[in-house]
Amino acid sequence: MRLSPRHPRYRSLRVRADLAASSRRGLVVPEGLIAHGRGEAFDYLLGERTLPSARRAERAAAAWLRAAARPVLSVNGNVAALAAGEVARVARARPGLGVEVNLFHRTPARARAIARVLRAAGIPRVLGVRPTGRIPGLPSDRARVDRAGIAVADVCVIPLEDGDRAEALRRLGKRVISIDLNPLSRTSRVADLPIVDELTRALGNLAADLERSRSRPPPSRFEPFDRAAALRDALATIGRRLRSPAAVRRPPGARPR
Ligand code: ATP
Repeated sequence: MRLSPRHPRYRSLRVRADLAASSRRGLVVPEGLIAHGRGEAFDYLLGERTLPSARRAERAAAAWLRAAARPVLSVNGNVAALAAGEVARVARARPGLGVEVNLFHRTPARARAIARVLRAAGIPRVLGVRPTGRIPGLPSDRARVDRAGIAVADVCVIPLEDGDRAEALRRLGKRVISIDLNPLSRTSRVADLPIVDELTRALGNLAADLERSRSRPPPSRFEPFDRAAALRDALATIGRRLRSPAAVRRPPGARPR
């Protein structure tokens, strides 16, 4: 289908078409398409923009990545399909950041395909293609990680992650930074630093913050972050938007009968 850039939801339709194509190529699993739909719904409710509280979370996350000794950014199929360029930009802006393929539905072919996309985006070393370690307390494949990456990381950025794994990483004592549009997901609720923002916006802002601070020495400690306030603010925004009279007004351009 040809998409018109004049369609009011062109960007969303474009992203869906790209994800569907990535699913046909085996990069994204069908479950990933459903997860994307859940994300889109929350983005709609949040106003499809970065909230000031999310921007604060992104700045705090950049500072944590700079303070970290062994930070890792975890990449699944949706993240590779939607944001390989942004992942590469964050990795360039934070030398030493590990980029690890981390899959809920793992097959060796899919892990290799994701690594190829990341390498093509400019990430020379991709971890997790042949996982060598395990996260205790998780079943089978979902436990598999790289011994040189997530297994030894002190800070893990986990975009679009499932709640079990987020929880397991926390139990291992890692500082968990989530990127998830759903402030009610288990992932957002267990994360030490939940970023409630759309993936490409969040990674773009994170990269910009890291680029800006590159000439400064890294912070000597992890600044505390008020995770509950960040989640409360996202939920309050959704509540306000649902109650606002604008929520039932016809959209601009809708034809009167
Ligand atoms: P949990 O296990 O954490 O309760 P879940 O069962 O919803 O959550 P998944 O199905 O793995 O977990 O969902 C991935 C999460 O990613 C969803 O909460 C969804 O809102 C979010 N998400 C999907 N696409 C995006 C995106 N582009 N940007 C940010 N978040 C997204």
